[in-house]
Amino acid sequence: MTVPDEEEADLQSPAQLIDHALGLGFHALGIAQAGPSPHAQHFLEWVKQRRYASMNWITKDVDRRIDPRKSLEGARSILAVNLPYSSEPAVGPDGGKIARYATGRDYHKVMQPLLEQLCQYISEQKKWRTWWTVDTSPLLERDWAELSGLGWIGKNGVVINRQIGSYFFLGTIVTDRPYQPTPSAMNHCGSCTACIDACPTDALVAPYTLDANQCISYWTIEHRGTLPEEARLHEWLFGCDICQEVCPWNSRAGRIRPELHPQLQPRDLPADPEQVANMSHQEWLDHYAGTAVTRAGHEGLKRNARKILEERAEIPR
Ligand code: SF4
Ligand code: SF4
Repeated sequence: MTVPDEEEADLQSPAQLIDHALGLGFHALGIAQAGPSPHAQHFLEWVKQRRYASMNWITKDVDRRIDPRKSLEGARSILAVNLPYSSEPAVGPDGGKIARYATGRDYHKVMQPLLEQLCQYISEQKKWRTWWTVDTSPLLERDWAELSGLGWIGKNGVVINRQIGSYFFLGTIVTDRPYQPTPSAMNHCGSCTACIDACPTDALVAPYTLDANQCISYWTIEHRGTLPEEARLHEWLFGCDICQEVCPWNSRAGRIRPELHPQLQPRDLPADPEQVANMSHQEWLDHYAGTAVTRAGHEGLKRNARKILEERAEIPR
């Protein structure tokens, strides 16, 4: 097949694009050739087994989710970028824990302008089309992070980057602009099973397979209404980081501690379940507005706090 001259000229080294992305504040950028999602089959099996709990939206737009070319006709490249968040644990002095990713400004709000700027650069005055997402559209983002070399999908289901571990957000851009792909990431989990062994609710039912029905992160953020009788939050008020905390790639001596985007600097958020259980709506807004913690809702966060207090009462002192 003959490549038109213009297209050939655009099939350039990704170095310039990567430089631009790093200049915007991303830690890394990887490029993959557009096509069907590499782990589409695994995802379809996961859906069939209803591992998504009540997150029914996952079962919508499956065709688009497993093939980004359905979201942007003529897509040629898929770009993955990452933006680090704080790796410091967020534990209140009186207990109660908040997932690290939620301690800064809501990542959707931080990533959006950065991705828009990157799209503008790629589109070269609307010569090329772009479509971006940060966890809000049907796309298996982790697949593209892995294929483009940003990091591999660990047995805990989280993307791990050799330099900085797994405490980062992912963004994805689909474009009809052709780029030379960057090498895909090798899996470095090896024989380790630390995440599977450490999960207190056995939610990692197999390597690379999370059952949301059993996951603290799902319960505390996505689940609406009363928590299941068997649910145990293990002090987690919002989210859960255990399967990342135990990952050797997050604690190894040589791990680079990347500079954080100023808006992702961790805030001092209340995590004491006693305080949260009695929080008024206004207090909840005053403390958490602008962070991802609001995703659980005022009532949801209070429910989590009450649940932690119930669990504490179960433990003989
Ligand atoms: S987030 Fe927590 S509950 Fe969910 S799989 Fe990881 S360790 Fe288990
Ligand atoms: S804890 Fe071990 S098995 Fe789990 S993601 Fe990290 S390296 Fe892989």
